[in-house]
Amino acid sequence: MKKTRKIKVGSLVIGGGRSKQIVIQSMTNTRTKDLRQTLTQIKQLENAGCELVRVAVLDQEDAKSIFKLKKQIGIPLVADIHFDYKLALLSLKSGADKIRINPGNLGRAENLKKVVDLCRKINTPIRIGVNSGSIEKEILNKYKKPTAEALAASALKNLAIVESLNFDKIVLSMKHSDVLANIKAYELVSQKVDYPLHLGLTEAGTFLSGAVKSSVTMGVLLHQGIGDTLRISLSGDPVQEIGVAKKILKALNLSKDQIEIISCPTCGRTTVDVEEIASRIEEATTGISKDLSVAVMGCLVNGPGEAKRADLGVSGIDRDNDYLMFFKKGKTLKKIHKNEVVNFLIKEIAKF
Ligand code: SF4
Repeated sequence: MKKTRKIKVGSLVIGGGRSKQIVIQSMTNTRTKDLRQTLTQIKQLENAGCELVRVAVLDQEDAKSIFKLKKQIGIPLVADIHFDYKLALLSLKSGADKIRINPGNLGRAENLKKVVDLCRKINTPIRIGVNSGSIEKEILNKYKKPTAEALAASALKNLAIVESLNFDKIVLSMKHSDVLANIKAYELVSQKVDYPLHLGLTEAGTFLSGAVKSSVTMGVLLHQGIGDTLRISLSGDPVQEIGVAKKILKALNLSKDQIEIISCPTCGRTTVDVEEIASRIEEATTGISKDLSVAVMGCLVNGPGEAKRADLGVSGIDRDNDYLMFFKKGKTLKKIHKNEVVNFLIKEIAKF
C-alpha cells in the first residue's frame, strides 16, 4: 500500500501504508439521539467486524448523545456534521474520536477556525469529506461538470484551507457517484498528498448495485495501493456494508483474518443444495477470525478436486443421498449427514 501518514483515531491508526491497517468503517442510519436503536446498530456493526463507526449529528441532542454512546461501544466514533460548526464543537466536547466535515459548508472562515483550533487542542483528527454534489461554484465553472478533476480540485482546495490553519491530522475523501470518475479523483489526489484516504462511492445504490460498484472502485484503487480506510455505501442495513468490505479486502489478499467460503457455481451434476449449505456456513462463521477457506461443492466427481486449495470442505455424493463427503485439502475423509454438516464444519474450523 502507498505509504501515508499515520493518523490516530481513538484506539485505531489510519494510514501508514500497511495493508493490515485498512480500516473498515460504516455509518449508522438510526436517529443518533435514539440511544437504544443507535447502540443496537453499533453493536451489530461491531460484531460484524466494523472498526470505526460514524453517526450523523443533526442537532445538539445528537451531539450530546455521543458522550453516552462512547461509554457503551468498543470502537471509535466519528461525528458527521454539515453546516453548523457549533455541532462540531459540541460533538468534540462529547468525545467524538474524529469529525467529518466539509470545510466549505461551515459558513464563515472563523467558524472553521474554531473547529480546527479545538481539534488541535484535544488532538482529534478531521476527515475532510467532499463529494460530487459539493464542488464549489468556481471549480465547477472551470471544469464545466463535476468531473474527477473538479472533485480532486475541490478536495485539494479544502485541504489547503485546513492546512493553512496549522492542522495536519487529516483524512481525506472525495466521493463521486460515477465509478470511473471516483477512481480517477482518488488517483489524482493520491499523487499529490500523503494524507490517509478514506475510500467510498456516493449514492452507490441498493445491495447488488452498490456492492458491485463499490467492489470495482475499491478493487481498482486498493490494488494500486491507494486507500487506508473504506466505507461501502449501501441503501439499507449498514451491517451488510461490513460483509462487502471484508470480502473486498479478502479477495485482494489484504485481510488474513477471515474465513473464505468457496462454493461451486452448481451444474447438472449438483446433488445437494449448495447455496443453502454455503449460506448457512457463511452465516455461522461470520465473526470468526481465521485465515481459512471452506468449500461447499455440488458433487463428488469434481468437487474435492476443484476445491483442492480449500483447507476443508464438503461435497454432495449423489442424488437422494442424505450425506455429504467431508474433505481436507482435496482428500476425501468421511461422510457427514446433511443435518450435521454445519456443526461438524464449525468444530473442524475450531481445530485450525
Ligand atoms: S463441483 Fe460438481 S456440481 Fe459443482 S460445478 Fe463442479 S461439476 Fe458441477
